[in-house]
Amino acid sequence: MLEPDELLYDLIRFFTPKRLAGQHVLVSAGPTFEAIDPVRGLTNLSSGKMGFAIARAAHEAGAKVTLVAGPVGLPTPRGVGRVNVKSALNMQKSLDHLAQAATVFVSAAAVADWRPAQMLDQKIKKDGSGEVPTLSFVENPDILAGIAASPRAHSGALYCVGFAAESHDLLAHAQAKRARKGVPLLVGNIGPDTFGQDDNALLLVDEDGTLELPRASKLVLARQLIAEIARRLHS
Ligand code: C5P
Repeated sequence: MLEPDELLYDLIRFFTPKRLAGQHVLVSAGPTFEAIDPVRGLTNLSSGKMGFAIARAAHEAGAKVTLVAGPVGLPTPRGVGRVNVKSALNMQKSLDHLAQAATVFVSAAAVADWRPAQMLDQKIKKDGSGEVPTLSFVENPDILAGIAASPRAHSGALYCVGFAAESHDLLAHAQAKRARKGVPLLVGNIGPDTFGQDDNALLLVDEDGTLELPRASKLVLARQLIAEIARRLHS
């Protein structure tokens, strides 16, 4: 027997226009976790809520959806396939593989920019001397830029959408990031205004200009974003 929320979800899906029928949407969400030693690591602030909402909205719109999620405790949206990953390198491996069959890639994950140069097998011990460990880092690959530069993305078989979480000058940073990542559509948001929250406001930047999606719940915004992506796919 279906639970009441599953029934409600199926009803919503039934009545949602199938703008993404026949599409395979790949979504990355959540932070990555870069281990320093077995008990410590480096991560980013990201609840995963926006990416999970996008996965749900894409499924409501009739797409086959695969979600590649960093470490978050959110339930998987109904009907969505999920791959759990930890580090940026794990995430890249999964996404590179899945992007070969996807037709849309929405990169909502907050990928850590750096990882420790080595992951130590044993916990670094504090010896009471006041001495602090020296850590060195290496840069993580830019997963989205790599996928956006792939032959499938260049041929138009894979439509790539990036996210930018900024603290100020959203428009200028989003435009610059769109060019740097080589994606047709970049979605900007003010990070500190949305981290961990259930609502957000988005600024869509593409070659034609900008579109503001005013503050609303992440699910409402995700549905609007999916409609905008579908419009661009069909134009
Ligand atoms: O460079 P920045 O982290 O601000 O770019 C954000 C966009 O790039 C997001 O779509 C994010 O998922 C993606 N990204 C990535 N790999 C990285 C860093 C960011 O795919 N190493």
